Amino acid sequence: MQVGTGISILNGIAIGKIKIFKAPTYEISDSLVEDPIPELDRYEKARVKAQEQQNALYKKAVKAAGEDSAGIFEFHAEMLDDDDLNDSVKSIIADQKHTAEYAVKQGFANMAQMFKEMDNPYFQARSTDVIDVGNCVLDILLGNDTESMQGTEPCILVAEDLAPSDTVKLDKSKLLGMITREGSSNSHTAILARSMNTPTLIQCKQIDDSWDGKFAILDGYNSCVYVEPTQDLIDTLTAKHNEDLKKEALLKELKGKTNTTIDGRTIKVFANIGGPQDIGAVQENDAEGIGLFRSEFVYLGSTKEPTEDEQFEAYKRVVETLAPKLVVIRTCDIGADKTIDWMNLDHETNPALGYRAIRICLTRKDFFKRQLRALLRASAYGNMGIMFPMIISVREVREAKEILAECRRELENENVKMGNPQIGIMVETPAAVLCADELAEEVDFFSLGTNDLTQYTTAIDRVNAKLEPFADSHHPAVLREIKMTIDAGHRHNCWVGICGELGADLALTETFLRMGIDELSVNAKSVLPLRKEIRSIDLSKPMSEKAQKFMNYLK
Ligand code: PEP
Ligand code: MG
Repeated sequence: MQVGTGISILNGIAIGKIKIFKAPTYEISDSLVEDPIPELDRYEKARVKAQEQQNALYKKAVKAAGEDSAGIFEFHAEMLDDDDLNDSVKSIIADQKHTAEYAVKQGFANMAQMFKEMDNPYFQARSTDVIDVGNCVLDILLGNDTESMQGTEPCILVAEDLAPSDTVKLDKSKLLGMITREGSSNSHTAILARSMNTPTLIQCKQIDDSWDGKFAILDGYNSCVYVEPTQDLIDTLTAKHNEDLKKEALLKELKGKTNTTIDGRTIKVFANIGGPQDIGAVQENDAEGIGLFRSEFVYLGSTKEPTEDEQFEAYKRVVETLAPKLVVIRTCDIGADKTIDWMNLDHETNPALGYRAIRICLTRKDFFKRQLRALLRASAYGNMGIMFPMIISVREVREAKEILAECRRELENENVKMGNPQIGIMVETPAAVLCADELAEEVDFFSLGTNDLTQYTTAIDRVNAKLEPFADSHHPAVLREIKMTIDAGHRHNCWVGICGELGADLALTETFLRMGIDELSVNAKSVLPLRKEIRSIDLSKPMSEKAQKFMNYLK
């Protein structure tokens, strides 16, 4: 038996085989090959596999969304049978002696260009489908498809590190647990792991390639992993795992109940999501709405910028499915640890303090407008809130609202129906806290982003693993800022919530209630434990010792 230790970011146990994650690569060699036959063979195999994947997606989509919405995957599968396209790729390999990867990139790009030059707008729009399908074939050739990266069986995934853009692409249904050598507990990868309810160990320095395929148990309670554990450990930890499952089942009894303290104070408990794929977890855990839809995850999961229509579909699906519940969608918060190749952002020395979030949106107005138009269109289908991230000034909020108003005027002229979304901002910079009174006059709600607020207030880079020993999620300065924000919001009729990870910290629930918080938005799996905690609190009684300690910080 081998034992690895690290930092656990989710209490839970994962039991299964280890799979070493293969990081995606995007390098395409254009060196020529001597013998084209093996390359032709590689292309043919990748083409057939891509076709199988598209057919499988079609079947899945028919079940989930019906024939009409699924039709696109059928079209993709048919494209892979197109003789002109295949001949063109094969001739780049056979006649010009290029690699299969190079030929696919070139052949599909040529075909996309042909579509683009057609007069008919329908065919013009198909050029992006051609590129999409080409990318599927390329991913298979480069070993970047989920199957190559993750395997086909449920597994505990082991990696040097995982970027948020890798994590969003993982097939969650086959993910038992995750272990990384690097990583920090407040990174977006950690946040995604929590939202997927996947036991995860970071900074496990003992990781070894020889673990691949071996049976292991990840014990999140004790922050370790046992590779080829003893029978005693298997028995003990399997029993603990079964106990966890029973506890989870018991929590379900709280479904349908209110988030009300013993003395009658009710607050909202919402869920955080990354896209339409998370709606099931929201419903299953009975969240009263969505307090944070990280819209950038829709962008991260894509190989190119999603079109206005694609974004509209994603937002509409969430808003419509959950109506009349409130769905707060945060506008694109790209940058820092959430990087996207297709945005071609410059490398920066201080990305967390750099060109990100609203700063990108206000300077790339067309990009921002595509999202705002999609949001306004989707707002007609339910109860939506639009939230701007990384705000530091009233000027930014006014500018963002002005661009939103411009989109509204355009859509009105196009006779498009829209709703009246609430407007809010993330309070996640000390500047926003200190200007909260002025900012509250501009918006309907505040949502405290305690992950970034803690990072900027304590000057601790949230993704720097070395700083873990210095990090204090209960830092008095952050708790004071939360109280200041709540008070400023309430002075101006603005409701105030928390959507950072601190919202799910049960050690602080009573403190937040006593501070006057209106809403807590947490990962879906934390909704019912939080409800249980709220229902056990009596605000008319003297404060618990824990809350007393935190409330003393505010004096
Ligand atoms: C936060 O900063 O607290 C937050 C909710 O946003 P993100 O974690 O996506 O930066
Ligand atoms: Mg943030």
